[in-house]
Amino acid sequence: MRAHSPEPEELSPSTGSPATGPVGLVRLLSGRYLWALLAVASLAVVDEAIIQPQLVRLNLYAPAINVAGRQRMLSQKIAKNALALATRSGDGARADRREQLLKAVYEWNTAHRGLLSGSVALGLEPIADERTAAALLALEPRLEAIRTAAHTIADTSPDDTDHDAAIQAALDTILSEEPQYLEGMERVVGMLEVSAGRQVDFLRWCGMAAMLAALGLLVAVYFVVLRPALNLIRQQITKLADSESRHREMAELLTEARDELESRVAERTSELVAANRALEGEIAERQAAESRMRELSGELAHASRITALGQLATGLAHEINQPLASITNYADVLELSAENGTFDAETTASTIARLKRAALRAGQIVRSMRNFVRAGGGQRSVVELNALVREVCDLCRPQLEQAQVQWSVDLAVGEIIVEADPLEIQQVVVNLVQNAAQAVAACDREDRHVDIRTCVEGHNATVEVADTGPGFGTAGAEESFAPFFSTKPEGLGMGLSISRTILERHDGRLWGRNRAGGGAVVGFQLPLATEHEQHVSTSNDCICR
Ligand code: ADP
Repeated sequence: MRAHSPEPEELSPSTGSPATGPVGLVRLLSGRYLWALLAVASLAVVDEAIIQPQLVRLNLYAPAINVAGRQRMLSQKIAKNALALATRSGDGARADRREQLLKAVYEWNTAHRGLLSGSVALGLEPIADERTAAALLALEPRLEAIRTAAHTIADTSPDDTDHDAAIQAALDTILSEEPQYLEGMERVVGMLEVSAGRQVDFLRWCGMAAMLAALGLLVAVYFVVLRPALNLIRQQITKLADSESRHREMAELLTEARDELESRVAERTSELVAANRALEGEIAERQAAESRMRELSGELAHASRITALGQLATGLAHEINQPLASITNYADVLELSAENGTFDAETTASTIARLKRAALRAGQIVRSMRNFVRAGGGQRSVVELNALVREVCDLCRPQLEQAQVQWSVDLAVGEIIVEADPLEIQQVVVNLVQNAAQAVAACDREDRHVDIRTCVEGHNATVEVADTGPGFGTAGAEESFAPFFSTKPEGLGMGLSISRTILERHDGRLWGRNRAGGGAVVGFQLPLATEHEQHVSTSNDCICR
C-alpha cells in the first residue's frame, strides 16, 4: 500500500513523473479518488444485488421455522381432539371437538402444503434446500395417515355399527404416527435452523469481506489520495509561509530603503538649501563686485580719456589759439577803422562775420574737449558712426598735423547706425588714432601715414586705423592688448585693454595685426542697429579681418 502512495516530491517533474507540479498532482489525485469512489460504488452494488437479497431471503426462514414449529403444536392438538372425540362425550361437546379437530387438521395440512410449495398467505417460500424438502416429503405418508384417521374419527357416527373399532383403529394410527411426525418435523425444523445458520454465517462473512474491502479502500484512499493531498497542501502552506516571510522581509527592506532615501533626500535638501543660500550670497557679492567693477572701469576709462586729452592738449591749444588770434586781429581791424574814421559798412560786416566764425570755431573745440572728458558713460543711444569718426578726427587733427603725419579718412558712403555709448566708442577711436600717430612718429616725415576708414560688412560696421609705423613685431598684436603692456616710456598700457573691454560690452570685438607692406592695422567691429534702416554703401573695399 505504501509503495503506491507517492509523495508530492516523487511526482515532481524532476523525477520524470507525468505529473507536472501541483496542478498535475491534483489531477492525478482526482483520478485516484474517482477510482476509489468507483470501487466503493461497486461494493455498494454488490451489497444491494447479492447480500441484501440474501438477507431478505434469510427473513423467510423465520416464518418457515415458525410454521414448522406450529405444525408440532397442531399435530398434538389433532391428537388431543381425536382422543376427546373417541371418549364419546356429550353431543354439544362432541360437535365442538369435531369442529376443532377438522379445523386443526385443515390448518395443519395447509401449513404442510405451504412448507412444501410455498404460501403467500403464510408468507412462505418453497423450501430451497433439497435435503429439508426431502425430509418434509418423507413426512407426507404420516401426515396422510393422521389426516385420514382424524377425518375417520370426525366422520364416524356413534351410531355406526363398527364405530368403536373404526375409532380405535384411527386413534391408534394417530397416536402411533403423531410422535414420529413430531420427530420428523423436529428434524425439519432443525434442518431449517441449520440452513438459516449457514446462510447467516455466509452473509456474515460476506458482510465482513465487504466491510474489510471498504476499510481497505478507505486506507488506500488515505495513502494514495489523502496523504499526497495533505503533503501537497502542507508544501503549499510552507511555500506560502516562506513567500509571506520573504514578502515581509522585502517590505521591511523597502521600508528601510525608503526611510534611508527620505533621510538622504532631507539631508541633501538641507544641503541644497544651504548651498542655495550661499550661492545667493555669492551672487549678491558678485553683482556688487560687478557693479563696483563697472564703476571702476568707468573711472578708469575717464582717467584714460583725461590722459588722452592731455596728449591732445598741446595741439588743441594751438588750434584754439588760431581763432583767438583771428578774433584779436579782426577786433584790431575794427578798432583801427573806428580810429581812422574809415568805417566802411560792407568791410565791417564781413570782418564781424569772420570774427563770429572764429569765435564759433574756438567754442566748438572747447565743447569737443569738454564732451570728451566728461564723466559718466554707459548710456547707449543711436549713433552714426561716420559722424563720430569725423568728430574724433577733428579732435586729433591738431596732434596729427603737429606730428607732420599724412593722414586720410575714408568713410563708407551714407550713414552707419549702431546702438552704442558714443563717449566710449569715441574714446576707442581716439586711442587707435593716437597709437597710430605715436607709432609713425619714429618714421621719416614722408613715411608717416595714418589711414582711417569705416565700412560695413554683413550685419557689422567696422572702423580701422592703419599706419606705416613699426607694427607689432613677430609676436603679433595679442600681447599688446594685455593690461599694463606698453612699449612707450610714459605709456600706461591700458588703452587697448580698456578699448577691448568696451567693445566686448557692445557685443563687438577689437583686433590688431601687422600690415602687409609694414606697419599695423588696428580695428574694431560693432553690430549694426537692426531696428534702424541703414542707408550705407557696402561697396568700399573693406579689409576688416
Ligand atoms: P599705451 O599707448 O599707453 O602704451 P596702449 O594699450 O594703447 O597703451 O598700447 C599698448 C602697446 O601696444 C603700445 O605701447 C604699443 O607697444 C602697442 N601698439 C599699440 N598700437 C600700435 C600701433 N599702431 N603700432 C605698433 N604698436 C602699437
